[in-house]
Amino acid sequence: MAEETVFGKIVSGEIPVEILAETDRVIAFPDISPQAPVHFLVIPKSTAYADVTELAAGDPETLAEMVAVAKRLAGELANGEFRLIFNNGASAGQTVFHVHAHVLAGELEERSLVGS
Ligand code: AMP
Repeated sequence: MAEETVFGKIVSGEIPVEILAETDRVIAFPDISPQAPVHFLVIPKSTAYADVTELAAGDPETLAEMVAVAKRLAGELANGEFRLIFNNGASAGQTVFHVHAHVLAGELEERSLVGS
């Protein structure tokens, strides 16, 4: 069984967060260390997928739902335009191995990238 991550604890409620959106399959909550005026994370409730390549292969419908939730919230919290980032692997800046989409919106720095 995969090691439990901080996001698994958020899904189970062990770590409380401000839930910005929730569907049967995904939740969204603010990033604890925002890199843009609007920066939230969208994650599947399933703990089965460590990164976006695994999710795309194993459950593409949930991946599409994550993108839909990102779009809806970016419209509610900013002007509807957003940057969507998946860090994929430790050397690419991934620190939590429960797939998550970073959604950044608002006035972005020209070249800012999460984790860099
Ligand atoms: P990554 O580096 O792509 O794996 O992103 C992990 C992200 O999770 C980082 O941007 C952290 O700031 C964020 N993070 C870690 N713990 C929490 C938490 N308890 N609540 C919200 N965001 C978190």
